[in-house]
Amino acid sequence: MRLALALCAALALSACATAAGTSANDAAPTCRADATVMDGWDDRAPPRRIFGNTWYVGSCGLTALLVTSPEGHVLIDGATEAAAPHIEANIRALGFDPRDVKYILNSHEHFDHAGGLAHLQRATGAQVRVREPAVATLRRGQGDRSDPQFLEGSTKLPPVADAATVADGETLRVGRHLALTAHATPGHAPGGTSWTWRSCEGQRCLDIAYTDSTSAISDKAFRYSAHPEYVAAFRRGLDTITTLPCDVLIAPHPLVVDLFARLDGRAPLVDAGACRRYAETGRANLDKRLDSEREAGTP
Ligand SMILES: [Zn+2]
Ligand SMILES: [Zn+2]
Repeated sequence: MRLALALCAALALSACATAAGTSANDAAPTCRADATVMDGWDDRAPPRRIFGNTWYVGSCGLTALLVTSPEGHVLIDGATEAAAPHIEANIRALGFDPRDVKYILNSHEHFDHAGGLAHLQRATGAQVRVREPAVATLRRGQGDRSDPQFLEGSTKLPPVADAATVADGETLRVGRHLALTAHATPGHAPGGTSWTWRSCEGQRCLDIAYTDSTSAISDKAFRYSAHPEYVAAFRRGLDTITTLPCDVLIAPHPLVVDLFARLDGRAPLVDAGACRRYAETGRANLDKRLDSEREAGTP
């Protein structure tokens, strides 16, 4: 950019107009200010720093995060199949090489967060690591009845043949600087996983928590109340979210946690109570869902 400006200073104005036109076409995209949570899933968002070595590389409606280090990077989530090339382009636009991504992680195995993983695995050569319940879904490109949204087609996605497992509580490391810890938070999907790590800017370090979706929604056939063990694991995951180290909360749907407003300085980025409140909302949502199933009657 600086070079282009210097050239402009040295050249005739008409040449500058052409250069400016070209750079306008290449300029970072923008997202609609009035978008709802359901908008912009496939649309390229401007890539940007969240804090320290944590970067937003996702779409306007779906989060993807790049956590960087001199010894290699970690990418979390792949959004939709259509958004995956935008994520790759965003990584490059920030000046990073996709081939330096060592691990690709996932929040949960639905098409809007895992549909782009196959493309991104090919683009990076990274190892995809997900919790055990998500492995078969990713390898097949298709979930099963254990997923509340199975009949809605939410688990249909391009297969990731070599997806490998990560255990609850396991910390994945890249070089000496990156350490990301997996936390089992199933319920919205069986393989639901939240991730935590620490990012620093100079002496200031913050705990980043990427918490998975917690909405208790399903296709017409699935009843949460028919699966008490699944509900118990759902509740344990919500308890886990409450206790995560959590200065900065990020979630798979950026508007759910007002992420862009927070990055623009229109709301606080740091909020130590955010994970606790996020879990409370999840609990209230689950209780409401179980109540409505009870009211509908037990077959
Ligand atoms: Zn989902
Ligand atoms: Zn989603």
